[in-house]
Amino acid sequence: MTTKFEPKCILCVRKAIQEKYCEYHYEALESLRAHYEIWKSRYGDISWDDYLNRLQKMKNTGKWIKEVIEIELKK
Ligand SMILES: [Zn+2]
Repeated sequence: MTTKFEPKCILCVRKAIQEKYCEYHYEALESLRAHYEIWKSRYGDISWDDYLNRLQKMKNTGKWIKEVIEIELKK
């Protein structure tokens, strides 16, 4: 019997497709990164951690995004 190794997303039970994340969490990470560029051009120099901390406190930040932020902040 052979079991094919299928990496799981570190945040949910879905199959990981990129950087330990499933398609939904990876999409959230990608949009986080895209937004980071926008923030930097708008608010000047802001660190990745600082940016994540601020986003996490915002009410309208989505559930997927918040889950990814938690993992990113632990790095
Ligand atoms: Zn996931």
